[in-house]
Amino acid sequence: MFVLAKGGEPLMPCHPARARELLGSGRAVVVRRAPFTIRLKHRGCADSAVPGVQLRLDPGSKATGIAVTDERARSTSTGQAAVERRGLIAIELRHRGRQIHSAMTRRAAYRRRRRSANLRYRAPRRDNRSRPDGWLPPSLRHRIDSTMSLVARLCRYAPVREIHVEQVAFDTAAIAASPSADARDIREPAPAGSEIREFLLATWKRSCAYCGAAGVPLNIEHVRPRSRGGSDRVTNLVLACIPCNQAKGTATVDEFLADRPDRLKNVTAQLRKPLHDVAAMNTTRLVLVKALATRGVPVHAWSGGRTAGNRLAMGLPKSHTLDALANGLMDRERGDRIVRVPAQILVVRSTGRGSYARTTPDRYGFPRLQRPRRKVQHGYATGDLVVAVVPRGKWAGKWVGRVAVRTSGQHRITTLTSRFDVSYRNLRLLQRADGHAYGFTEEIRWSEETGPA
Ligand SMILES: [Zn+2]
Repeated sequence: MFVLAKGGEPLMPCHPARARELLGSGRAVVVRRAPFTIRLKHRGCADSAVPGVQLRLDPGSKATGIAVTDERARSTSTGQAAVERRGLIAIELRHRGRQIHSAMTRRAAYRRRRRSANLRYRAPRRDNRSRPDGWLPPSLRHRIDSTMSLVARLCRYAPVREIHVEQVAFDTAAIAASPSADARDIREPAPAGSEIREFLLATWKRSCAYCGAAGVPLNIEHVRPRSRGGSDRVTNLVLACIPCNQAKGTATVDEFLADRPDRLKNVTAQLRKPLHDVAAMNTTRLVLVKALATRGVPVHAWSGGRTAGNRLAMGLPKSHTLDALANGLMDRERGDRIVRVPAQILVVRSTGRGSYARTTPDRYGFPRLQRPRRKVQHGYATGDLVVAVVPRGKWAGKWVGRVAVRTSGQHRITTLTSRFDVSYRNLRLLQRADGHAYGFTEEIRWSEETGPA
């Protein structure tokens, strides 16, 4: 829970139980429902110790994981100073790049139809198709903009002193320069230099390159064997299951896959284009890191291989928020570790703020229905965060979700898992629309002693 001082300055986030206690005794008031933020009524910023928190980001194409953490020094049994990292708040920001892409495609189709319908050809008077420097497609631009707006808000609610971000999925320079990757079992905890291992796992989708077997132990395999002059560079490495690895022996890939030509074509095609795809994927993240750097908080950029190494070493499963939590420098040999994982994830879904158009078109662009002039219907506007208390029926119970209004007053509620209609009389407003839908989901159960449950 985020905590603000009397004057609105951010203090250290607190545990939900502590927030309940403060609110119950009347020492604090609720500022926002999502993300849940309280303001202390009597305590100023000068009365509190504010060591500060770190914001950790794992940008992804569909969702970005965000973790608010703090770090404390502790001494290990050998007397060394190590760092304990605590996850305080976990947020999963779900992007809407797909919707934006389809909306842009639809708009292009309408325009194309209009052009051929009633315009004669006229040569363009000037080049109106130029794009400014740093232009990104709107669906990619949205990822950066929505992440930045959430980061700006979090910096208002929490004393953010550092931002750690996964800048590149894989450090292409490190992979290209990688000296060697010996063929050991890829499942064993990744030591330093795990960059290449994670890269191969992602490239070959965690399956054998020769037979497609997944969920089996995989070895790093030399396409052209070392005994026949094959190098250790990534362009000569694939993942293979143990039977394939042994069956191939010292044969080249052409000999080994001679009877499976389509498989051979796949393998050689994938080998020929390894690093360019990754570089393209990294572009959006690079722009994000540049944007974050303008906030005036130190930004540290890390690679995905390092994140995965940290996460595996702590026995954490893969999720957006856990990747964000494991992001950054962790000297595991010194004894650095993660000691707390937030139990709940706040899911923030980008929904947009509706449309200016007051008609809904059909798929050819002709008006299908008129939208009402007023956005507010029976006290609610589409996008508001509400609590619905349904007295009876299939959906009986208490729900928190996003409302979509109807002129009839039978508004539609959308939660993370369900969608149903309910009368405005059974609703209570929590927070006005801000372009996001909010929900909670459980983080994967995990404890330091037992690992994931
Ligand atoms: Zn195989």
